Amino acid sequence: MIVYMKIRENVPIAELTTMRMGGFARYVVEITTVNDIVEAYKFADEKGLPTYILGGGSNTIGRDEGFDGVILLNKLRGIDVLGDDGETVTVQAMAGEKLDDLAAFTVERDLTGIEAMSAIPGTVGAAPVQNVGAYGQDIGAVLVSVEAFDTELRDFITLSVKELGFRYRRSILNSDMKKRFFVTAVTVRLRRGEIAGELYRSLQAYLDENGIADRRPATIRDAVIAVRAGKIPNPMKIASSGSFFKNVSVDEAEIDGLRAKFPNIPIYKIGESWEVAAGWLIEQTGLKGQLLHGMRVSDKAALILINESAGNYADLAAARAAIVAAVRDKFGLELEQEPEEI
Ligand SMILES: Cc1cc2nc3c(=O)[nH]c(=O)nc-3n(C[C@H](O)[C@H](O)[C@H](O)COP(=O)(O)OP(=O)(O)OC[C@H]3O[C@@H](n4cnc5c(N)ncnc54)[C@H](O)[C@@H]3O)c2cc1C
Repeated sequence: MIVYMKIRENVPIAELTTMRMGGFARYVVEITTVNDIVEAYKFADEKGLPTYILGGGSNTIGRDEGFDGVILLNKLRGIDVLGDDGETVTVQAMAGEKLDDLAAFTVERDLTGIEAMSAIPGTVGAAPVQNVGAYGQDIGAVLVSVEAFDTELRDFITLSVKELGFRYRRSILNSDMKKRFFVTAVTVRLRRGEIAGELYRSLQAYLDENGIADRRPATIRDAVIAVRAGKIPNPMKIASSGSFFKNVSVDEAEIDGLRAKFPNIPIYKIGESWEVAAGWLIEQTGLKGQLLHGMRVSDKAALILINESAGNYADLAAARAAIVAAVRDKFGLELEQEPEEI
């Protein structure tokens, strides 16, 4: 069989990632059909090179030395309704679709479950990797299964929500089985109706300020987009990877001690784990709004690092070290980076 895959050589990683830094990737293969995945891994094997799966590059940072390997750039497209039982609707999206386009698709059909994830950059396929979420919703809560190419079995398989082991910003796809699966499609089951439960504080505040009482998916989507626009840099205009640090997980036994020392420390229970808000920790060190080695600690959300004038990854590493040290010195807590590196 003749296979036509689009292969580019020596591509700047900066062009493929929203932090816009890093050296060159030796090869970039565009994946437009699932068969391209099989061929791309064969191509990498033949060349004896490592691989990296890339979607929108909004959670990936390029290092100065570049990547002497093959980037599989996911461009798999298509969104379909698989089933409708009157109350819930099952939707499958190919992994190269934008998560925000999937949110728009479901909101148009009055479905609740991912409307609060509107405007999160990146692809559907990356969403289960770190169990993306925002404003009280996360993908793990509505996901049924993912279709994937298993690079060990060299075959296409289905992984159920249970097998994916979702936790806060975590799944098997970024932990125990990191890099083993290329997610090709994601299936979610969404409810007809309105968002349930108490709304995230800033979202509720926006609705109150604007005298909006209804909680339909379209209303929540619009509100989330407006709230995010005031706070989170648009990756098309401003270089960042969104939240640069994860919230800090602490043991339940540590909580009383932390609260005794720092009475206002925000500690939340997310699923089974206890998380300290990393943005608050950084804010308390006085670094919010500061420019460190060309990296700006956002003055709107201290968790976000903006690549304002950093020449390279080394600058980012210096800025990161300064922030991590400041939080460690003040709180004895260790910040961990959220974005992956290539
Ligand atoms: C401005 C901004 C705001 C953000 N806000 C949020 C937010 O509110 N909530 C949140 O959770 N995240 C947020 N993020 C982070 C980011 O949008 C998400 O992590 C998103 O899922 C990344 O998608 P991507 O396609 O760009 O991933 P990429 O950066 O391309 O990839 C991320 C990781 O997933 C792996 N991967 C990608 N595609 C696949 C696949 N098909 N199969 C297997 N592995 C794959 C990659 O190898 C890599 O390890 C934000 C980022 C930015 C820049």
